[in-house]
Amino acid sequence: MKALKGTGVSAGIAIGAIHVVDAVDHEIERRVVDDPKAEVERFHKAQQTAVEQLKALRDKTAKEFGEGKAELFDAHQLMLEDPDYVDSVVGLITSSHVNAEFAVNSTAEQFAAMFAEMSSSYMQARAADVKDVSKRVISVLEGHETADGAQAQTRHIIWAEDLSPSETVQMDRSLVLGFVTAKGSTNSHTAILARTMGIPAIIGIGESFSADDDGLTAVIDGSAGTIFIDPDEKTLKEYQDRKADYEHRMSLLQQLKGKPTVTKSGQTVRLYANIGRPSDVTSVLANDAEGVGLFRSEFLYLESEDFPTEEFQFNAYREVAQRMGDRLVVIRTLDIGADKQVGYFGLEHEANPALGYRAIRICLTKPEIFKVQLRALLRASAFGNIAIMLPMITSVAEVHDAKMIIEEVKDELRAEKVAFNENVQVGIMIETPASVIMADELAAEVDFFSIGTNDLTQYTLACDRQNSNLGRFADPHSPAVLRMIRMATEAAHRHDIWCGICGELGADLSLTDEFLDIGLDELSVSPASILPLREAIRKH
Ligand code: PEP
Ligand code: MG
Repeated sequence: MKALKGTGVSAGIAIGAIHVVDAVDHEIERRVVDDPKAEVERFHKAQQTAVEQLKALRDKTAKEFGEGKAELFDAHQLMLEDPDYVDSVVGLITSSHVNAEFAVNSTAEQFAAMFAEMSSSYMQARAADVKDVSKRVISVLEGHETADGAQAQTRHIIWAEDLSPSETVQMDRSLVLGFVTAKGSTNSHTAILARTMGIPAIIGIGESFSADDDGLTAVIDGSAGTIFIDPDEKTLKEYQDRKADYEHRMSLLQQLKGKPTVTKSGQTVRLYANIGRPSDVTSVLANDAEGVGLFRSEFLYLESEDFPTEEFQFNAYREVAQRMGDRLVVIRTLDIGADKQVGYFGLEHEANPALGYRAIRICLTKPEIFKVQLRALLRASAFGNIAIMLPMITSVAEVHDAKMIIEEVKDELRAEKVAFNENVQVGIMIETPASVIMADELAAEVDFFSIGTNDLTQYTLACDRQNSNLGRFADPHSPAVLRMIRMATEAAHRHDIWCGICGELGADLSLTDEFLDIGLDELSVSPASILPLREAIRKH
């Protein structure tokens, strides 16, 4: 048994087999083979297996997410069967007598470099695809049980150096028991996603990370940050009991479903949920959230291979609005950039991406992209109770500009006689110190504030939220952050608009009393945090 320690970022206990993600990202060995003909045969067999896996993935994706999403796997299959690609692999094996893994890897690098040099951003994005399909073939050649670089086919604990938000969001949640990463920080979007999914997660195990642990059984405790690899019987039994206890505690909280979120003295707070994609609504409803306080719409972009169309977005927003009925659904407009990078946007490399070209700054300078999303949002507003929320605001001018574009889109829809809610609420995120300082002027312009404490902490304390070495310096409990929250809430109330928190701090039970004292109107948290928070508020 091996015991490791990291930082627990999403509560719960998971017990299962370790699946090392990116296990095939190691150096591919070049070997000389005696029988190139047999090696070509080996390649063709692996290629065939990979094609079958892609077909299965395609069908599964079509069933779960619709045909649009499934097309990616058709494209991957075509790539794998492309005669130029196949000729290149076979040619290398036959002419240089190299092993199939090496031939596939060299071909992938060569094709990816060729795509990356093309001027169209669409073709540039194909570089990642060719690497992806090749990784799959190499994985099969190496005899891994699954060739899906990121996903085993049975339930497992993901083990990775690091995970990007797009890698995390593409995982099959029904198969992931938990996450453990060598790097990462508490407020990284990967950690946030784990909490949204209600999956135990531990980050920052650092040097203890080893790809050799692939396939071993692990016990992880997402609250304490402890991990046991290959646990002895006593430890396994202890954690099976703790897991049962934890699940029992969670099931007791179910009694709070349908009960009002009100303190003993009668103060009410609206408890909403944060989501990243439409399917999260199932756990929003299961945990009895009173609305959706933050739909991170950029995850629709992160999951896509190209700009999501108006129709695709409309369907996603409408689905959430319809499933939530009368309850409010706050959809944040595209918050791309910083750690949420999307290849097809062709964004330039930046030295300080958190201070760079991101979120509303992209939308205001690329209205053609912003308008597609706004059309989808407004059209969906006819099917439920949707509000639009603008991220990363630092000035009144940005709000004016964004509202002007919203009005233009409304005019277009009116001219086309397309229905939308004329009174759709427009609010902003308070996540920069500038927005707090300008809160009175901003409150006069919008219908609500939602405080993004993850970025507000980062920008107030000058602490990169992705940096795991900042420890106590990046403390969201800092009086500076708490005072900012109070200032923004008071400004909102002076202008008769509501103010909530949708950053991770909203779920911090040690601050619930303080938030009630400040008078926040709403707290939006991961679905699994709803009932524990309701319990705390009802006890207050
Ligand atoms: C925040 O910054 O607190 C927030 C809610 O937005 P995100 O975490 O997606 O940046
Ligand atoms: Mg933010």
